[in-house]
Amino acid sequence: MDATAQRTHFTAAAVDFEGFTDEATVCARLARAGFTRVAVPTSAAAFELGTLCAAREALAYRSGMADGVLAVLGLGCQPLLAAGTDEQRARWVHPVAAGTAACGFALTEPEAGSDVAAMATSARRDGDGWMLDGKKTFISNAPIADWFVLFARTEVGPTAFVVERGDPGVRIDADVPLSVPHPIGSVVLDGARLPAGRQVGAEGAGIKLALGTLDAFRTSVGAAACGMAQRAFDEALAHVKRRRQFGKALAEFQLTQARLADMAVDLAAARALVEQACAARTRLNVAIAKLYATEAAQRVIDSAVQLFGGLGVMRGNVVEELYREVRALRIYEGTSEIQKLIIARELLRG
Ligand SMILES: Cc1cc2nc3c(=O)[nH]c(=O)nc-3n(C[C@H](O)[C@H](O)[C@H](O)COP(=O)(O)OP(=O)(O)OC[C@H]3O[C@@H](n4cnc5c(N)ncnc54)[C@H](O)[C@@H]3O)c2cc1C
Repeated sequence: MDATAQRTHFTAAAVDFEGFTDEATVCARLARAGFTRVAVPTSAAAFELGTLCAAREALAYRSGMADGVLAVLGLGCQPLLAAGTDEQRARWVHPVAAGTAACGFALTEPEAGSDVAAMATSARRDGDGWMLDGKKTFISNAPIADWFVLFARTEVGPTAFVVERGDPGVRIDADVPLSVPHPIGSVVLDGARLPAGRQVGAEGAGIKLALGTLDAFRTSVGAAACGMAQRAFDEALAHVKRRRQFGKALAEFQLTQARLADMAVDLAAARALVEQACAARTRLNVAIAKLYATEAAQRVIDSAVQLFGGLGVMRGNVVEELYREVRALRIYEGTSEIQKLIIARELLRG
């Protein structure tokens, strides 16, 4: 399928997710609609960033919640696809791909956010398994996940593990109320005992695996931002043609036209940078795309709210929901400031 055909395909498949927020059925529905296999491919080599971006843009246009869940299924499975064993993939990844299980990606801690290397969660050998202590916070999908790829520090260094929801000593707290529908919570490890077979990849390779996973998915956050911004733009365009003040449609005022033009330019630039990052996949291009697309989407959505006037801040209005929805995209998978640091580092390195 070429890029245009993909866009058409996912746009049609996403229609059923309009305003969707049901945590209980989201994974089965994403799999049925063909989205999950894009975020959770059969192997690391089968991962197609451009396809994931097309899927996320279409889904985010309809439901930020469904898009967020999909992305985290991908984040959770990617380390196992990249560094896990066939047994691990069969046991944990394949059910996620089929829509019968959900997973999460547990990296952030109360005292280790942007500075992931500051992680304090510990793992020590316990017979032929491991014992883990610590807390992971802001973990998307925590309320619905059957398992997590979780990063903890062994005496060698940060290492990836599979932690199941039902493992002894594991507690899931739904203690992170957000401004938007988004399943999220904390994973608390209190002498959590993991049997043999739970370590993913080499001991000490956890940071590389975590950052490699985020690098692979970060461009698609920009694509989701484009989907949200496009939706806000479409809603605003329809509104300014319909709404009349001073005897004219809002669309007839040049200040409105200038705002629409600025929104369209921001959106086109964001999409172009996402496409460029999909093609080049360098750390520089990826950081530029994530930074620009998420910041531009915030501007476009803010403009849409302004064009709606009072209706723009009414609960339940699509642009009001998008205004809350888009905000976190500038924070997770590396804040805008962290993207700037990456861009500068890459440029200075020459
Ligand atoms: C909705 C949502 C979902 C999330 N899902 C997950 C998930 O599934 N799994 C997971 O592991 N984590 C998840 N996170 C956590 C997310 O990755 C972190 O919130 C993010 O990395 C920022 O960390 P922090 O919140 O601790 O902020 P901090 O790191 O404390 O940063 C606070 C502010 O300081 C700035 N700052 C930090 N360091 C620097 C610096 N060196 N120079 C300049 N400015 C700096 C930041 O840019 C930010 O503006 C999620 C977060 C949100 C909001």
